[in-house]
Amino acid sequence: MVKWVYMFTEGDATMKNLLGGKGANLSEMVNIGLPVPQGFVVSTEACTQYYSDGEVINEEIQGQIMDAIGKLEEVSGKKFGDSENPLLVAIRSGSRASMPGMMDTVLNLGLNDDVVEVLAEKSGNPRWAWDCYRRFIQMYSDVVMEVGKKYFEELIDEMKEEKGIVEDEDLTAEDFQKLAGQFKAEYKAKVGEDFPADPKVQLMGSVKAVFRSWNNKRANVYRRDHDIPHHWGTAVNVQEMVFGNLGESSGSGVAFSRDPSTGENKLYGEYLTNCQGEDVVAGIRTPNKIELMADDPHMAKAYEDFKVISKKLENHYKDMQDMEFTVENEKLYILQTRNGKRTAQAALKIACDLVDEGMIDEKTAVSMIEPRNLDTLLHPQFETAALTAATPIGKALPASPGAASGKAVFTAEDAKEWEAKGETVILVRMETSPEDIEGMKAAKGILTVRGGMTSHAAVVARGMGKCCVSGCTEIVMDEANKKFTLGGIDYHEGDIISLDGSTGNIYAGALPTMDASIAGEFARIMEWTDKYRKMKVRTNADSPEDARKARELGAEGIGLCRTEHMFFEADRIDAFREMICADSLEGRKAALDKILPMQQADFEGIYKALEGEPVTIRFLDPPLHEFVPTEEADIKKLADAQGKTVEQIKTLIDSLHEFNPMLGHRGCRLAVTYPEIAEMQTKAVIRAAIKVQKDHPEWKVVPEIMVPLIGEVKEFVFVKNVVVETADAEIKAAGSDLEYMVGTMMEIPRACLTADAVAKEADFFSFGTNDLTQMTYGLSRDDAGKFFESYYDANIYDNDPFVKLDQVGVGKLMEMTVELAKPVNPGIKIGICGEHGGDPTSVEYCYSLGFDYVSCSPFRVPIARLAAAQAAIKAGE
Ligand code: PEP
Ligand code: MG
Repeated sequence: MVKWVYMFTEGDATMKNLLGGKGANLSEMVNIGLPVPQGFVVSTEACTQYYSDGEVINEEIQGQIMDAIGKLEEVSGKKFGDSENPLLVAIRSGSRASMPGMMDTVLNLGLNDDVVEVLAEKSGNPRWAWDCYRRFIQMYSDVVMEVGKKYFEELIDEMKEEKGIVEDEDLTAEDFQKLAGQFKAEYKAKVGEDFPADPKVQLMGSVKAVFRSWNNKRANVYRRDHDIPHHWGTAVNVQEMVFGNLGESSGSGVAFSRDPSTGENKLYGEYLTNCQGEDVVAGIRTPNKIELMADDPHMAKAYEDFKVISKKLENHYKDMQDMEFTVENEKLYILQTRNGKRTAQAALKIACDLVDEGMIDEKTAVSMIEPRNLDTLLHPQFETAALTAATPIGKALPASPGAASGKAVFTAEDAKEWEAKGETVILVRMETSPEDIEGMKAAKGILTVRGGMTSHAAVVARGMGKCCVSGCTEIVMDEANKKFTLGGIDYHEGDIISLDGSTGNIYAGALPTMDASIAGEFARIMEWTDKYRKMKVRTNADSPEDARKARELGAEGIGLCRTEHMFFEADRIDAFREMICADSLEGRKAALDKILPMQQADFEGIYKALEGEPVTIRFLDPPLHEFVPTEEADIKKLADAQGKTVEQIKTLIDSLHEFNPMLGHRGCRLAVTYPEIAEMQTKAVIRAAIKVQKDHPEWKVVPEIMVPLIGEVKEFVFVKNVVVETADAEIKAAGSDLEYMVGTMMEIPRACLTADAVAKEADFFSFGTNDLTQMTYGLSRDDAGKFFESYYDANIYDNDPFVKLDQVGVGKLMEMTVELAKPVNPGIKIGICGEHGGDPTSVEYCYSLGFDYVSCSPFRVPIARLAAAQAAIKAGE
């Protein structure tokens, strides 16, 4: 029989895959003797079983859950529904990787009309007992039966209005009792049956709801962004309740063992008295700083205990911890610990500090940095001078660093819509709830009125590397009219504001930004990265400026220079169009003569910027539709330049029209039709290389000429012959001994399938996984995004295959290519230059295939360096 349920005493920290992060860590904490309320975990495998059984919890799993309840009753001395000592439990999700706030929780489970009376009497605190009961009905209805929270909130608001009070704290025991009655009536009205009184029924309903929440929209979006596969499933933790809402000597809090924003080695947290844990993170009340517990006679002892436990947990896990705790009548309980989410700056500082403190080694430090997190550090910050000159209009908590200027919008839907229209927006919210995740993603920055540094908004924003300023209580919000007031001034939808996520300052208008640089701890980590990395990291760059930037960021060469991109500028596009639209060899040669010096100058600039590091120059691959003129004035200009009429040019353009331009006359097909294009490009490459080599004898310049889009070895050989003939003649004429290589992109499935034949002819392969993905899936890379949403909703795709390499299908072609190529050409260099070259999991995959390098856009070079180092460390090298 499969074991689906584990008591905390049966688990440990190594069982994350089975018990989820929360369950494994709760077990571990029980093992090391920390004050953790007892409980058990329904495994992640039970969740996947639930889905394969058609969303039902089968009898065997139900049986094991009930056995575990029996054991919990034994150890706690309490019983479900008991009239003496009733057991109440919390039900919480917990997958392998933490997904803060994305799934569901039910607290105070086990309450019913009888149990609430027992609790009220035994505790001598009927207000608390009824508060728990009405909370439970509310949460159960919302989470399990999907009756919206708002109906219950309306009832609370009505009650407060009737009584003329503002705060929940002013509601009495009788009020809560009355509310509980109203809530049950609401439940019956909406669900059509009585609220379940049997705790066992409540329990199964809640476990099922947590399993179901694994598949909710926000969890799916979060998983996609964090590379968490759908098939992992979530575990469910069932844990005896402890109560932070028993009065002023009770409370709940969340804390990090180090500052998650800066990494400073200082306990960092927040708490509220007389509340349940959800209140702290939900951002409904702005909590107090944890240090203040020391000044509260009811909390001081628990605070001292917590500080000791925080250190103990950090030493145990050897990483910064994010902990949840509850104080029940002055006694401390730990409800959760996990490696804390942190900003990129904090991640670097913590990793370096832990090495300096002797807690971890350099390899561990490199492995603990989330590569995609570096992104924030590589993007611009506000200019120092502009910051000094500007006066903030407000200041709140620096919840997630970065600089963001944009137009204020007030709903997550607006953020999405405006962003889709090309606007840069700041999402301004009273508080964010997990449902806002897509709006948060679309926004450049997030500003909230309520909520602390540990609120969902802050945690999620930090995870996304998105600038966030939270808890700006000075803002008077008018969500209905899409405006807010700050410092006496109104800001409307569309007004530009700026947020500094590192200081928490808010500014009116846009502030100028400056480029980030790799210094301090960032530089130190990158140094270790390079020490343990085996695979090279190159960049995709089409201009000397991009190449220089990429070199600063650590690129060790250019893996892809898209030569058609060199003609986007207004003063060059004309010559390019003349070439495309020439209808005779002479006409084309005349246009190519104009292009040659431009290309040569660009290549010289690039070779200089690279200082002898390898440069792969790809020959023209213009999908023609991207280059032909469409504006009347441009057509006229082209007609004049070629001595033709507008009508003649239009006819020519019509003749170039293709139904599937991405499968059309592009790549090497252009060079097969017009070898003079390949000839011109070879001249430009070779002449530039000879010149730079002569000026810099200390470098070794070896041009790598890359032929795009081949599907048949004869295509490659045809173009290669043109290249070799032209290059050899140039080298001879210059009296040079320049060496060069000719290779090809692997981006058409047929090229991969015949890789042995191609490898005999090519010096190198570079996987163009953008086209290879397009052609393997038969998906248009330009249009497919439009319908991917339905594929995510239906769980057909976990991710966009154009972002994260499909290792199953496209990967199979890549593996096959390597296996076919190496035996016939053992020295063949293999790399990747599709967008996946900068995606961390794809980089790891390329490493596993034995690639010589990955190549990615300049800003992703440090990410790829880190991912490549992590891959080598993980492989034990
Ligand atoms: C590719 O197809 O992966 C590639 C790098 O080429 P391009 O994106 O220019 O088609
Ligand atoms: Mg391509």
